[in-house]
Amino acid sequence: MIFERSVENRFAYSLPECDVPARDTEDLIPAGLLRKKAAELPELGEADVLRHFVGLSKKNHGVLSGFYPLGSCTMKYNPAINEVVSSLPGFTDAHPLINCQGSLRLMYELQGMLAEITGMDAFSLQPAAGAHGEHAGLMIIKACHEKNGRSERTKILVPDSAHGTNPASVSMMGMDTVHVKSDKNGNVDINDLRARIDDKIAGLMLTNPSTLGLFEVNVEEIAEIVHGAGGLLYYDGANQNAIMGISRPGDMGFDVMHLNLHKTFSAPHGGGGPGSGPVGVKKDLAAFLPRPAIVLDGKGIFRLDEDMPDSIGRVRSFYGNFSVMVRAYAYILSMGAAGLKSASENAVLNANYLMFKLKEFMKIEYDRICMHEFVAAGTPQKEQGVSALDIAKRMLDFGVHPPTIYFPLIVKEAMMFEPTESESMQTLDAFVEIMRGIIKEASENPDLLKTAPHNTPVGRLDDVKAARKPVLTWK
Ligand SMILES: *Cc1c(COP(=O)(O)O)cnc(C)c1O
Repeated sequence: MIFERSVENRFAYSLPECDVPARDTEDLIPAGLLRKKAAELPELGEADVLRHFVGLSKKNHGVLSGFYPLGSCTMKYNPAINEVVSSLPGFTDAHPLINCQGSLRLMYELQGMLAEITGMDAFSLQPAAGAHGEHAGLMIIKACHEKNGRSERTKILVPDSAHGTNPASVSMMGMDTVHVKSDKNGNVDINDLRARIDDKIAGLMLTNPSTLGLFEVNVEEIAEIVHGAGGLLYYDGANQNAIMGISRPGDMGFDVMHLNLHKTFSAPHGGGGPGSGPVGVKKDLAAFLPRPAIVLDGKGIFRLDEDMPDSIGRVRSFYGNFSVMVRAYAYILSMGAAGLKSASENAVLNANYLMFKLKEFMKIEYDRICMHEFVAAGTPQKEQGVSALDIAKRMLDFGVHPPTIYFPLIVKEAMMFEPTESESMQTLDAFVEIMRGIIKEASENPDLLKTAPHNTPVGRLDDVKAARKPVLTWK
């Protein structure tokens, strides 16, 4: 701990004697806000400080320290060049109120690229996260129904495999979630969908491929049913990693969608941000997009257009998280159309390779070709007294980040793996051997798993207490 290493009067700086006349601090700061005694700060040399922080960073697992197959979250390698580009002073120093032509052009062009990749007609880059994009998209759906005099449409259909943010966004909008069941193959149960349709339906939110990692084979039929009932189709596009350059939500019949630039398009994520969840629409809905729109006038000048009477309004200060947009722009340009397509092909290939290898000794929930991720079930191990959580904790001992566990909710003891396109066959093979060993241990030495992890800086934590009552100070 940095405080324990503190030595009185040791400094990490040397500055010349202050030659500015001391002013009476009470003139500047109200007495009630003045410190009564000196702040308790550690006193260390520069090398000690650096060693402390580098040491802390090494205790953490990241995609640059090892394999990170966290399903649904697309923890892929983000090319370092995009980090360099996003920190160019021309971008980082541009004041947001100046409406710098270069920055506006980048955003305008990025919107166009995203529209082309997804088959939508228009995008707004304002939303700052996936859930924020969902919320903006639902606002658009609501505004559209209201404009057409159908404000009684307040129900949103959400499949039971959906990401938790979907029903949460519906609630945030003051709308009602109607759950739709999945069938035994992991598709939307069409009969259940038909049974839940009525004239209060505002729309359906669908993730395709679903969070089960499966391509929704009935998507066209689903679109027909929902449109036929006067509803709109919302596409949760948080993970495009399986379909870039191969299939497009716009062609599948979706009207509104969001993307997570911080999953598919080269921004590191986790820890809460910054993110970017652009919202895209078909042209009939473009008038409802957040205001202002970025437009190119006849003289080749980029402008912000506030004149959008049907807009849902502004959903974020300034433009959203600009540096995330720069990374996405650089990523898309450097990959090119063919590169994006091959990224998706490799993501799908890697996921299927891993799934087929793990199938030798693990239960795979849906026995069909997967997209960018797949779900294993720890139910056979559970019978031996070992839970998915125990298996996940044991993985930490081998320097890999565990997959997402206990999600999707419809699979018991779920473990959702997403290897991503950026992992080599050697990494995947090594991981398979780690898993083979762990599954063997589960039957031979279950206690080893139940008390794991053993090799990490801290042992097993009380997850609930850590989230509810975090200890954030050193004492
Ligand atoms: C990650 C994710 C979201 C939410 O994105 P955030 O940026 O975390 O708000 C929504 N849907 C799916 C399918 C996701 O994987």
